[in-house]
Amino acid sequence: MPVAPLVLNKDVYTLNAEEERMLILRKYRALLRVLKPRIKPGDKKLLRRAFEIAVEAHSEMRRKSGEPYILHPIAVAQIAVEEIGLGVTSAICALLHDVVEDTEVTLGDIEQEFGVRYARIIDGLTKISNVVDLNATTTIQAENFRKILLTLAEDPRVILIKLADRLHNMRTLDSMARDKQLKIASETTYLYSPLAHRLGLYEIKSELEDLALKYLQPEVFNEISQALKDTHRDRSRYINEFIRPLKEMLEVAGLDFKIYGRPKAINSIWNKIRTKHVTFEEVYDLFAIRIILNSSPEREKQDCWKVYSIITNVYRPSPERLRDWISVPKGNGYEALHTTVMGPGGRWVEVQIRSSRMNDIAEKGLAAHWRYKEDNAQESKLDSFLQSIRDLLLQAEHGDTLEFLQDVKLDLFTEEIYVYTPKGDMRVLPKGATALDFAFDIHSDLGTHCIGAKVNYKLVPMSHAVKSGDQVEIITSAKQQPDAEWLDFVLTGKAKSKIKSFLKEEKRRIAQDGKVIMEKKLQALGVPLSKANITEMCSFFQKTDSTDLFYGAAVGNFDLRELKNFRIEGERMLQPAKETNLDSRQLIPEDAVPHPKGSEVVIFGDTQDKILYKLANCCQPIPGDDVFGFQSPGEGVKIHRTDCRYAAQLLAHHGHRVVKTKWAKNKEISFLCGVSITGLDDVGVIQKIANVVTGDLKMNMRSLSIDSHNGVFDGTIMVFVHDREELDLLSQKLIESGGISKVERLEASDL
Ligand code: MN
Repeated sequence: MPVAPLVLNKDVYTLNAEEERMLILRKYRALLRVLKPRIKPGDKKLLRRAFEIAVEAHSEMRRKSGEPYILHPIAVAQIAVEEIGLGVTSAICALLHDVVEDTEVTLGDIEQEFGVRYARIIDGLTKISNVVDLNATTTIQAENFRKILLTLAEDPRVILIKLADRLHNMRTLDSMARDKQLKIASETTYLYSPLAHRLGLYEIKSELEDLALKYLQPEVFNEISQALKDTHRDRSRYINEFIRPLKEMLEVAGLDFKIYGRPKAINSIWNKIRTKHVTFEEVYDLFAIRIILNSSPEREKQDCWKVYSIITNVYRPSPERLRDWISVPKGNGYEALHTTVMGPGGRWVEVQIRSSRMNDIAEKGLAAHWRYKEDNAQESKLDSFLQSIRDLLLQAEHGDTLEFLQDVKLDLFTEEIYVYTPKGDMRVLPKGATALDFAFDIHSDLGTHCIGAKVNYKLVPMSHAVKSGDQVEIITSAKQQPDAEWLDFVLTGKAKSKIKSFLKEEKRRIAQDGKVIMEKKLQALGVPLSKANITEMCSFFQKTDSTDLFYGAAVGNFDLRELKNFRIEGERMLQPAKETNLDSRQLIPEDAVPHPKGSEVVIFGDTQDKILYKLANCCQPIPGDDVFGFQSPGEGVKIHRTDCRYAAQLLAHHGHRVVKTKWAKNKEISFLCGVSITGLDDVGVIQKIANVVTGDLKMNMRSLSIDSHNGVFDGTIMVFVHDREELDLLSQKLIESGGISKVERLEASDL
């Protein structure tokens, strides 16, 4: 199970100086041990030097837990080498990753000591290190995220070390304050785990996600890990029963292999429960069987298929669940054969077949891929991924970084599909991509002139979503040009930014005509089209810049006759006074919201009159829910549940606006809450529900609706409760009453 090993020794800070010194040395020697097979002559001295510099530089610093700070960079180096498969250079950079940022040591010192190659990597690490800045504004945050992608494109080692750094911080998050935990965990789900996924670091991705869940939704995390523990014995028994016949036959076939069962990560189990609306018991794929073959690169493909054929001789496969990532590896380099078969007792079981080389790639991702690239002629798919990030960054214009980030993130997150050109070349696109995305993926000219497409020889509109295996031919017209509407149906960052930059170019062109119009108008008024006058007009007509103003003049989206109302003083135009009817919210700058620093909002407590707050509509928290406060400009503090679907985004982008929150202990206010219920049709069910709610619990029920069909019913109960405890009690009592098999809290979107 990828639950974090407890790296942090809670008693460390009670050590005396000598014991501490020994501990540091021991950790450093452990690092040398994992590096040993890769150390070349001269490396040892460099490593020692880096270690000494780091120890010296951090000597006065301690982590929040009380440990000496130096243990952190050593741990990061250890992760980089052991879990990501990086080498000596990266280990040295990991040891030094925080010195330029936090100590007297400068980048110049590093360059002098180790050379420019090292300095560049550490510079990259330093640049992106202040991403976790609770006081940074939205724009700075977005800019930081952009920097991360930039450095990724320059030298992927920077981002790999950064991931090691993040993993260690997540493993030791216990000692941080609650608001920092939320912020760091959200940032992890928002950016770092998708990045780890995209780079093929599956192990690290799962661990990051599980750790994030542990802090964002501790209840869910504990419940699922407990359930996994409780069912462990049954599961092992089943896995052994499943494996036994396979093992025998694989041995008979003379294969060298390892076979084992592996539980799914807690976060992915939670995702199933949440998205498929099932209970823990109903998640059928709590584990997967993995077969790792020791086989030479020349034989591995046929050996994997041999294993497939043996498995399907024993168990019946589900034909639509065969995934061949050996013939066509995933974009991040992942190779394996997946099949789902019917195991004993009629349970579906997923089996993953890989060679040990493929397994290394699956666990260590990018780094492992590089290592094999030399002896493997096959070109790295990751190179093309990195290239596409570089392309995106080149196109991204300064200013709308947040928007750009959203576009890139979509590319990072979504599943991939494989689509073919008429000549049979394969292109990898995110799931949900349209024919127009495909056109832009091939060439921006093809995209800008696209009028439609033929998918598998059938004519479709350019907004048609393509599927894996489709063959797509783009139809163009020289007269065609992009339209703002296109942005509604393209998915890829590449298509979006190309269309946007075309539209901008178009706007600039039209603005040229507008400029001529304005020049004439101003000539008539006897004033020049000077910078000062343009600024004055922009302010009056509410335009952001001169292009915006001229464009508006050309397309007539404001009334040029109003220019007559301007006062003229010499060469200057002065705008007439106008009545203000601006939305009051616009008058409050984003960051001017009073920040009750260090204070805590107590909801429905004594601070009620001092701080304005509202319960968020999206997740409708009630007392007892795990919540955080979020400052919304002009609206005071909004209270969200930490499992709100907007939480990760809010916390990652606007962490500086998070306010500590807790519920007051009084029970004066009740909240309207909804639960959905399902069960087997039962004549007395309404009576039972009424008995539970209004009889046993004496709750105030607002409405009850039941819908039954084919012997099953589902319904909704709306009820007033004071807090989470009462709501949980209601669920428990309903289940105990019999006849009702599932009770779920309704989300705002269901209401
Ligand atoms: Mn660090």
